[in-house]
Amino acid sequence: MTHLATDVLVVGAGGAGMYAAVAVAREGRSVLLLDKGLVGRGGATIMAQMTVAAAIAHEEPDDWTLHLEDTLDAGRGICHEPLSRMLCERAPERILEMDRWGTRWARENGHIKQVTAPGHRRKRCCYVDFLSTGPAVAATLRHQVSIADRVRRVSNVAAIEVCVADGRVRGAVALDLSTGSLVTMAARAVVLAAGGLTKIFRRNSASTNMGGEAYWLALEAGAELVDMEFVQFFPIAHLAPRLVGMDPIMWDPFRYKLGGRLLNGNFEEFIHRYGGQDEGRYTAPRDLASYAILKEVEAGRGSPHGGVYLDFRHLPEATVRSAFGPVIDRLLANGIDLTRTAVEVAPTAHYHMGGIAVDERLETRVAGLFAAGEAVGGPGGANRVSGNAISEALVFGERAGFFAAETAAGADPGWSPAYAERARAELADLRARKGSGPAPGVVSTELQDAMWEHAGPFRSEEGLERALARIHALRRRLPELTIAAGDVFNLDVQDWYELNAMLRSAEAVASSALRRRESRGAHQRLDAPQMSPAFEKNQRVALDHGVLTSRWSPVVRSGVRTA
Ligand SMILES: Cc1cc2nc3c(=O)[nH]c(=O)nc-3n(C[C@H](O)[C@H](O)[C@H](O)COP(=O)(O)OP(=O)(O)OC[C@H]3O[C@@H](n4cnc5c(N)ncnc54)[C@H](O)[C@@H]3O)c2cc1C
Repeated sequence: MTHLATDVLVVGAGGAGMYAAVAVAREGRSVLLLDKGLVGRGGATIMAQMTVAAAIAHEEPDDWTLHLEDTLDAGRGICHEPLSRMLCERAPERILEMDRWGTRWARENGHIKQVTAPGHRRKRCCYVDFLSTGPAVAATLRHQVSIADRVRRVSNVAAIEVCVADGRVRGAVALDLSTGSLVTMAARAVVLAAGGLTKIFRRNSASTNMGGEAYWLALEAGAELVDMEFVQFFPIAHLAPRLVGMDPIMWDPFRYKLGGRLLNGNFEEFIHRYGGQDEGRYTAPRDLASYAILKEVEAGRGSPHGGVYLDFRHLPEATVRSAFGPVIDRLLANGIDLTRTAVEVAPTAHYHMGGIAVDERLETRVAGLFAAGEAVGGPGGANRVSGNAISEALVFGERAGFFAAETAAGADPGWSPAYAERARAELADLRARKGSGPAPGVVSTELQDAMWEHAGPFRSEEGLERALARIHALRRRLPELTIAAGDVFNLDVQDWYELNAMLRSAEAVASSALRRRESRGAHQRLDAPQMSPAFEKNQRVALDHGVLTSRWSPVVRSGVRTA
């Protein structure tokens, strides 16, 4: 077993994890930056191709307090306001720092160009042309991490347990995917920056690494999760034909800009049947658009792959070409000629507003355990506005790194090999199994189907109870799953840990959704369609002797709301 020691361990090397590592190093502390994929190349950050919201006021007068107002409005009364404030107040610093580090934000007449996006009343969203925002952010941070001499990068190693003794973090145990052996890591502070959970749904925009492992690591360590029911579903994600190397949620800005038509399988406009408007006036909010699409599919009027068509063919070819710019060639390389073909789109699980409960230092209730990025719950409340997720990764990454470094400056809590005993026994047991059931990856697919069918964009008590029954049945099958022999890159072992985390995250989502008997923001209940003042509160989930428990807590207000 390899043993490493560091001041701060950062789990997950997306935007949040890499920024955290840079911030720790800046404070003069050593940092181990761990990723189950390649550092800086897994997760959501590198996939994001749209915008980053920050009130830098380059395009028009703006202020972080206005950004905060928009964020709180979208959050429908249940944002953790100090975290929302931190996000909006500090986003400009991060964007400008990244500018100095060489991120090529799109510019016009010398200033950083900013555009509006759904939920923002000012032009505040920065981007990198063309559809390169996430890759550019990831590349900038990869470079910063590589030149910071106190950062040690470790790829292809997945954290499987955070070790806690006497109420404080001591480090973590991880699985080296390339050798199948365990790695133990002593750390004075740990930052969980392992991203969200949208992979638990059949239709998702996620990378393969977004199975909610941060949540399971936090729960097992004794931390709480908050508002797990709030998953954002994006109404018109790409469905077909196959699209490689492009963001599946790329269509929205083009639809707004050009007036792309949404058509059902019979090539008829349909949004008006559900209270929205057609003919190029896309005023229908995201939940209404999702509802209309799913209803058309349910009525047998869907497109061949179970969505609807997005069609630009009514527009002159020159207009389409000029609006899509070089993107048109990337689409052509995928065999999609927008002047001749309509694409199929459908709602998809895209982002998670819920997550690990932290305080204003990004610390959980476990001393020394911090969280950053999409893994954190609360700043977006019931819904997140466009562009806030990358800002959140950058801002919370930097802050969590700073506070973790501060904590690491204290006394060394010490490490004992006994902390890794449970993980060692679990892995040995997994290896010794002669399972007769399916491989873990097969069960993941069953879970994804159940979550999509019963806990997806539109929920009901009956459906959520079915989802929970299915999750419990699948959990009972964990001990009988077949694990292939071999140590080197054994995908079954890796999938087993991920499935375990996915099942727990799914249970937290479905059980929280069941208890929230109202519709608020992204949580839509068909059997409780109104927002209820009685539910203007947060829901917290914890693990008690292996059982998920929940409690309601008052919303944390900051008193900074200006209007
Ligand atoms: C397709 C897509 C497009 C998007 N577009 C936008 C956009 O335009 N604007 C916007 O604001 N937001 C967008 N988002 C959301 C935004 O990209 C994410 O919320 C944000 O990048 C999350 O950053 P993160 O660092 O928290 O997590 P991630 O970037 O997801 O990184 C998490 C990392 O943790 C690693 N990891 C997971 N489990 C473990 C483990 N057990 N051990 C070690 N490592 C682990 C993963 O491999 C991954 O590298 C988009 C998301 C997607 C999926």
